[in-house]
Amino acid sequence: MSEKYDVIVIGAGPAGYVSAIRCAQLGLKTACVDDWLDKDGKYVLGGTCLNVGCIPSKSLLESSELYSRCKNELSQHGIYAREVSLELDTMMERKNGVIKDLTRGIESLFKSNNIDWLKGRGRLLANKHVEVAAEDSKSVYQAENIIIATGSSSIEIPGVKYDDQNIVDSTGALEFTEVPQRLGVIGAGVIGLELGSVWRRLGSEVVIIEAQDEFLSVADTQIARDSKREFKKQGLDIRLGARLMSAEVKSAKTGSQVAVQYQDARGDHKEVFDKLIIAVGRAPNSDNLFDEEVELLLDERSFIHVNEQCETSLPGVYAIGDVVRGPMLAHKGSEEGIMVAELIAGNHAEVNYDLVPSVIYTHPEIAWVGKNEQHLKAAGEKYKVGMFPFAASGRARALGVTTGMIKILTHAETDRVLGVHIFGPQASELVAQAVIAMELGASSEDLGLTMFAHPTLSESLHEAALAVSNNAIHIPAKKTKK
Ligand code: FAD
Ligand code: NAD
Repeated sequence: MSEKYDVIVIGAGPAGYVSAIRCAQLGLKTACVDDWLDKDGKYVLGGTCLNVGCIPSKSLLESSELYSRCKNELSQHGIYAREVSLELDTMMERKNGVIKDLTRGIESLFKSNNIDWLKGRGRLLANKHVEVAAEDSKSVYQAENIIIATGSSSIEIPGVKYDDQNIVDSTGALEFTEVPQRLGVIGAGVIGLELGSVWRRLGSEVVIIEAQDEFLSVADTQIARDSKREFKKQGLDIRLGARLMSAEVKSAKTGSQVAVQYQDARGDHKEVFDKLIIAVGRAPNSDNLFDEEVELLLDERSFIHVNEQCETSLPGVYAIGDVVRGPMLAHKGSEEGIMVAELIAGNHAEVNYDLVPSVIYTHPEIAWVGKNEQHLKAAGEKYKVGMFPFAASGRARALGVTTGMIKILTHAETDRVLGVHIFGPQASELVAQAVIAMELGASSEDLGLTMFAHPTLSESLHEAALAVSNNAIHIPAKKTKK
């Protein structure tokens, strides 16, 4: 007889491990299967996010930002550190230490919640049985409920041979052993901008090749335009409307390099890079996940088909995180994981998909929640705009980061906040205030009547809210027609 659980979660990324913990907290007998192996071949928890995603990238963004500020900004403060130098090994060791601490933290949370960690590859069999295959063993378990949280992997461009040295995906880009002199990046999406920024700050000449004509089309147009200008100033050479034709590793006297050919409206172009990062999106891990007789429905892009409650086409089988529709974000997967755990325990739960915050951890950061101006125009919605530039914020001036702004969009008649868009210092933290306000159905008037501490960056949200009705204190009033 196979061991029987209330819940088996397949995948221990931020969707799966959070869901497993919530299931256990709710008194459900829970196991979590995961097949992630670290560089030493040891099973580790945390999935993409902790091992090769959110956490290592933010660790390197922090380190590279410190390096860049020491080199370029300290003297403005009257501080001189003339011998600033870079030890990349130490930076990478620190990053690896952060990963280790956090993945071990999840291991101890599993232990304290009595979650069985089943090490190996999970496969869904008929009647809610799960086969777990490790290197030299195969076991089968059974559960009342299955939660699939197998995540996603980098999309590969057909015809391009990745060698994990010169042509790499985002994982390889977190492991370079020296700073490339010339770095090519394919894709000016979130990963391209974040990892392009890391290596630019550490000294690489960075060229980003993007297929779309429009820069960062997912963001509010105004924010995309302003941020592109700023990134250009920082030395990111972003080439739009550019289609990769070929990328090949070539041996040269000075070591291997990558020869790239791309095409844009002006014709064919050639470039040679020391390293090439390919960051053109991610695809769901839904291959070889279930037996032929298991009738789990996938959509046309191979995401597991689910409804708003993350129920699949099979009763008692749920799917959450990157393997299902919606933005591929850790917090979206975690919230789905909690919702599903609650539903299994018989509680009411839902995820508000309209208020998933997005952040791009560049410098300054970009963050938003809700609708942008393009959405509202396309929907024919009548709206008002309130904007406040960080240049007018005392705290931003003291910090020395005055680029960008906060922009609030509200319903023209009800004044309810419909979207908040931020390009500026600590946008990732500021956007949480907007999410709370919008969850509570706040209006710009509500935000305007709320007191914010001085001097803070948050005051800019207050001022942007006041600007909706032309009442911002620290910017010139709009001229109104008589
Ligand atoms: P994953 O984290 O991918 O975890 C899935 C787990 O399931 C893995 O451990 C995998 O090994 C395991 N698995 C797969 N198939 C099986 C199987 N058959 N059996 C057993 N185990 C299996 N998101 C953010 O919100 N903020 C960020 O700052 C951010 N930065 C990122 C930076 C980078 C470089 C990358 C690549 C991604 C980043 N993301 C970020 C996206 C984020 O990492 C993902 O959205 C998130 O990890 C998805 O969580 P998940 O649990 O669905 O899947
Ligand atoms: P993305 O979808 O953000 O960007 C990919 C970019 O590559 C797009 O702009 C696309 O037009 C371009 N592209 C596609 N094919 C191309 C080609 N052949 N040539 C040139 N350009 C091409 O994907 P990503 O940057 O790979 O990130 C993957 C996922 O990881 C995203 O969905 C994102 O949500 C998540 N992520 C989130 C964060 C964060 O929250 N801060 C950070 C990193 C990754």
